[in-house]
Order: sequence, then C-alpha cells, then structure tokens
Amino acid sequence: MLIKTVKIKSDNMIEVKNLSDVNLGENPVIAQMSQFNHEQLLFCNDNATGLKAIIAVHNTVLGPALGGTRMWNYANEMDALNDVLRLSRGMTYKNAISGLNLGGGKAVIIGDSRTMKSEALFRRFGKFVNSLAGKYITAEDVGIGTADMNWVSMETNHVVGLPGKSGDPSPVTAHGVYMGMKACAKVQFGSDSLAGKKIAVQGVGHVGEYLVKSLAKENADIYITDMHEPTLQRVAKAYGAKVVGLEEIYDIDMDIYAPCALGATVNEDTMSRLKCSIIAGAANNQLKSENIQGVELMDKGIIYAPDYALNAGGVINCYSEVKGLTSEWAMGQADEIYNTILNIVNRSKSENIPTYQIANKMAEERIEHIGSVKLPM
Ligand code: NAD
Repeated sequence: MLIKTVKIKSDNMIEVKNLSDVNLGENPVIAQMSQFNHEQLLFCNDNATGLKAIIAVHNTVLGPALGGTRMWNYANEMDALNDVLRLSRGMTYKNAISGLNLGGGKAVIIGDSRTMKSEALFRRFGKFVNSLAGKYITAEDVGIGTADMNWVSMETNHVVGLPGKSGDPSPVTAHGVYMGMKACAKVQFGSDSLAGKKIAVQGVGHVGEYLVKSLAKENADIYITDMHEPTLQRVAKAYGAKVVGLEEIYDIDMDIYAPCALGATVNEDTMSRLKCSIIAGAANNQLKSENIQGVELMDKGIIYAPDYALNAGGVINCYSEVKGLTSEWAMGQADEIYNTILNIVNRSKSENIPTYQIANKMAEERIEHIGSVKLPM
C-alpha cells in the first residue's frame, strides 16, 4: 500500500498527499484530532499478522474511554481515521448523557472481516489495547464476533461483553427505548401510557422484538416490518402485531415511528411521508442530516428522541460489567432514560432548540461540571 499523508484544506476537505511532498512542519493528523478535541490516537501496525488498526481516545474526563472495535474494509486509511474520530466522539456524548462514569473511545481494524481474521491478529490487537493501561476499554462492534474478542481478552483485561459476562445487551437497550418512548408520550399526549397508541416498529431483530414485547404488554396497537420474512411472521404471531410492507411503514397513519433497523430513515424522502408525532427507536444515526431533519421535525411539532440517548442501554450493560454491577442495576439505569429524555424534550421546547442539540449540550455540560469537580483541591 502506498503510504500517503494528508492535509486539511481550509474548507475542511481532506487532501491526500504523497509523503515526499510533505513539509515536516505540518501535522495533519493532530489537526484533525484538535478539530473535535480528541485526547489520543494510537496507530497500530504489525506486519507479521497484517494488523492495521487505529484506537481513538476522545475524552476521559468522566472515566476510561469505552467503545467497540469495528473491523471494516475501508477504501483508504483516511476513511478509517475519519470513522474512528467520529465514532469515538459519539461515544463520549452517549456515555456522558447516560450518566455513566465513562469517556468515549473507539477502535477500527482496517481489513476484510471475512478473510483477514486470525487468532494472532486479534491477540496482537489485544496487546495494543493493553498498552493503554485501561484508558481504553473495548467491546464488539460491526465485523467483530465473540470469538475475536475472546482472543483479544487473552492479552488484555480491558474488554467487555464477553460470553458469560454481562450478556446480550438487547433487552436493556429495548427497555431504555421503551422508557424513553413513554417520556415522549408524556409530553406529546399528556400521559405516558402507550395503550391504544399506534406504533410502527421498523426491524424486529434483537432490540425490535424485545420492544414489541413491552409494547404488547401495554396493549399498544403495533405495526411491524422486517426484511427477514420468517422473523417478521414469528414476531407478528407471538405479540399480535400487524405486518406492513418495507416501504409502506413510512406512509401509514401512526402515533409513533420506532426505527430499529437502519440509520438515515428520516430523510428528505420520508420527511413528508411520516405521519407520526413521535420518533423513538433504537437505530443509530436515524436522521440523515441532524441539521436538516432535526430542525424540520421540531418545526413540524414531531418529538424526536435523540437516538444515542435513547439506545444507551447497550453501553449501560457494558458499564455494569466494568463495575461488577448486576443486570438488575442495568435495567434500573435504563429506567432512567425516561427522565433523561423527558429533560431533553422539555428543554428543547422551552429553549426552542432541536432535541439532538439539547442532548449534545447536556452531555457537554456534564463533562464540564464533572471536569471541574475533578480539578485538584
Ligand atoms: P439486529 O440485526 O438483531 O436486527 C435488525 C433487524 O432489522 C433485522 O431483523 C433485520 O432483518 C431488519 N432489517 C434490516 N434492514 C431492514 C429494512 N430495510 N427494513 C426493515 N427491517 C430491516 O440488530 P439489533 O441488535 O436489534 O439492533 C437494531 C438497531 O439498533 C441497529 O441499528 C443497532 O445499531 C442499534 N442498536 C442496538 C443495540 C443493541 O443492544 N443491540 C444498542 C444500541 C443500538
């Protein structure tokens, strides 16, 4: 692979340059780090195993930086760098808004997860994680399986989510989504009861199914869709939900839209089609552009529960493992998502600022306040 380096252009676009063209006075990677105030990056290379990885520690004011490791066949190293910077910063906000004493971090392994995995590669990666001495705690993310993390854990204790530990995070995530949805209902309908409310759940996989189970218990009027027909039919039968088509879900009359499959489903196409007054689901990055759809939703009077605050049950589950807390504690903490979302939505209304911006502000305020507590006496 041709080694290249980069330069930030004035409009923040990235320009790739050959090393030979570079003035040694320039330090483009640190410039990127300082753009979002990252603390530390660890570039990992091992020719023997083929490992190429980047570990990003965004912020450790609240505690060690926790975030998963992603394995992805990035088109180039800049894409990997951008991804790890963006994702690690996102973890700082998620961990902060969830009231956890955790900072934000993330790791990416550059390569094809179908062909490049080996015990040696993951153990080498584990050694790099260990070299950060607990400042970064890793977990599974896209492209990584339990067996891979088992190998990582042979070289470091700073891993969470291993089999036999805190277990599947989906029930905790679904519970948090359910509680946050109720908080939105409290503001929008004057009561947090979801009985009789028409709720459309897109994707009934791990989280979606647990969510449907809670909604069914509360006698909501449930509509579901999923790409996987057998799962769709099974869940519909088990909980008395009505099946709708993959595209039809955007057009039905509903009170609440709960995206629990993919990101960016609230976009320029669906904005005019969605007839709901609340959007609350588990999927990450639900708004195609926060700056566009986040503002449009507020203007239309649709309450949007910011995804990273609503789906924090997964990270709450990891935290319970880090601290040796019980699954009951994790469920109790997921209950708190009700109050978090209520605060966000009420503040959004009183300050006339979109919910996603309020969530960011609240996360930043917590980091600032706790940071000042931690100053030396
Ligand atoms: P999953 O893979 O178990 O379930 C996703 C479901 O969505 C699958 O059944 C799949 O068939 C379906 N699906 C995919 N594309 C679809 C489409 N276009 N239309 C309809 N259905 C479609 O995943 P999950 O663990 O349930 O997670 C759901 C979402 O929540 C993901 O976006 C995930 O990143 C996010 N999330 C999950 C957790 C967790 O604890 N599992 C935590 C935080 C965020």
